[in-house]
Amino acid sequence: MIIAILSGKGGTGKTFVSVNLVAATENAVYLDCDVEEPNGRLFLKPQQLVSAPVTVLLPTIDRDKCNGCRQCVEFCRFNALAFVRDNPMIFAEICHSCGGCALVCPEQAISEIPREVGKVEKGVSGGVHIVTGILNVGEPSAVPVIKQVLNGNQPEKPLTVVDCPPGSSCSVIESVSQADYCLLVAEPTAFGLHNLKMVRHLVQLLQKPCGIIINKADGEYPPLEQFCAETNTPILLRIPYDKHIAERTAAGEIIVREDHLMKEVFLGLLGRIENEAKR
Ligand code: SF4
Ligand code: SF4
Repeated sequence: MIIAILSGKGGTGKTFVSVNLVAATENAVYLDCDVEEPNGRLFLKPQQLVSAPVTVLLPTIDRDKCNGCRQCVEFCRFNALAFVRDNPMIFAEICHSCGGCALVCPEQAISEIPREVGKVEKGVSGGVHIVTGILNVGEPSAVPVIKQVLNGNQPEKPLTVVDCPPGSSCSVIESVSQADYCLLVAEPTAFGLHNLKMVRHLVQLLQKPCGIIINKADGEYPPLEQFCAETNTPILLRIPYDKHIAERTAAGEIIVREDHLMKEVFLGLLGRIENEAKR
């Protein structure tokens, strides 16, 4: 089963839930698709690391062959090509590597060369196989790195957890593409509810079943409960604020590996997700 863990914004406890879920089962794959801030490895501390670069194809123009017809410029939907003082220019940061400009060029003046945009690291931590996507600083699109994380020939395990980027952008859509179930982590605040609504709407559009975890759930926040009831979204778990858990997490520890009761809580959560997904 593939479970995607999402949140409307950063800092809600998405990675906390993700790493505790895989560590509780001790037999899972953890895919860190939050490639701009891949923090899961700080907790899981993977060993036997292997790393591979992620590249995209970038067009390059042979000016000796170019006749200045500008068909490539007209073709590019992303405005990644332009002529400046009759010289063709490519803006790598906004090129989507579609390859179209090379196809339409009548002079075969455009070829493509690999450009590194990040890397993927693989390792193990106990019975957990960990794949971490890492986007190079300044790269505008996380999607190529996320694709390589998701399609990296992972070992067969009963559970795969995808730690998604926060928000509801195209990188989140890519991250949940293979998920059987989406788990939304939310805080019981007005800001938390506002962002939850966006990500709840996204998974609905993607026709993915979903449930909610309320983190730092001290007391009730009626608007959040009301939203869950109105959208028929089950609240699968409430995690109250606990100073000891917060301190152990801040120290880079995984609480289910040292607290038997918390391990039972997360295994119970997994059971509820499996039941919900069968509905
Ligand atoms: S399509 Fe080819 S020949 Fe025409 S401007 Fe572009 S690179 Fe030059
Ligand atoms: S590869 Fe696609 S996106 Fe990039 S410059 Fe060419 S047409 Fe534009």
